[in-house]
Formats: sequence, C-alpha cells, structure tokens
Amino acid sequence: MTGWKVCATALFLALKTYGKYNKSGLIIPEIPTILLVHMKTASDKFVIKRSSAGLGMFAAAPIKKGEFIIEYKGEVITQKQANERGGQYLFETSSNRTVDGSSRKNTARYINHSCKPNAETDIRKGRIYVSSIAPIEPGEEITYDYGEEFFNEYIKPKGCKCLSCKAKKNK
Ligand SMILES: [Zn+2]
Repeated sequence: MTGWKVCATALFLALKTYGKYNKSGLIIPEIPTILLVHMKTASDKFVIKRSSAGLGMFAAAPIKKGEFIIEYKGEVITQKQANERGGQYLFETSSNRTVDGSSRKNTARYINHSCKPNAETDIRKGRIYVSSIAPIEPGEEITYDYGEEFFNEYIKPKGCKCLSCKAKKNK
C-alpha cells in the first residue's frame, strides 16, 4: 500500500472507532463508555411518572442522605429577561442571574414542591444542584421546598397538593 493510502485507511479506522462526521464535516467524538455508564446510572436513580400534583420524579433505587440527584439545567438569563418571560420554571441563582428551566430537556423541572421535602437545592457558581436531605426509598417521590415566594404566588391560590398537606387535610 502506498503511504497516503495507509494514512487514509488509518484515518478511516480511527474515525470509525472514535468519531463520526456530522453534516458540516466536523468530527464528533463518540461518547466515552465511562460517560454512558454514568448517564445510565444517573437516570437509573429516578423515573418520571404521575404524582399527586401532575408529573413527578420518583426514586428508582435507594438514595442515601446527602446524595447528589440531578442538576436543574436551563438557559442562564438576566433579571430583566426573567421578568419579561415569567413562568414557573425560572430559578433565581443570584441578584441578576436566573436559570430558565422550562425546557423539557431539564428533567429536574419534574420535581414537585413539598412542604416536608426529602431533597434540597444548592446553588454553586450559578449552577443548581438537587441532592437528598434524607434517605429516599425506591418508589418514593423526590421533592424539594420551592420557597415562600413561589409558594405564595403559584401553590397557595390552588391549595398545596404535597403529601404532607394532603395528609393534614385527611385528618
Ligand atoms: Zn404542602
């Protein structure tokens, strides 16, 4: 085989193994197996299904206290943009930064509010992390407290449907 052919074959084999072309001719590396395993593990932790308040996120495996569950992701926008857009999926991370989590890609948006939650949100460097504050059993709904402002504006007028409030009502 001539030199360039060897090179072309090697390049072809390398691409076949490690990447692929997209339409604009750029090489997109394949997702490393270790990441795939991680993604699988992350999504194996929970399932999205019907709850007392629409869809909700439920543990699919036991979650330990203090364990990271999911990041609340979305477009980072300014306070002004947030005021213009409005809606229930805006998550303020600082005085002038808000994460718009309304995209369906943001799985964390399915986590419902609870007045007696088993998870909490933690803002670090503008990113929002959801982690457990108690052990969560498989089948149990994962919830966090949306905070007073959200509660008064969106939940209070309709009445809270969290398990804790439902239990109080049924007493
Ligand atoms: Zn409640």
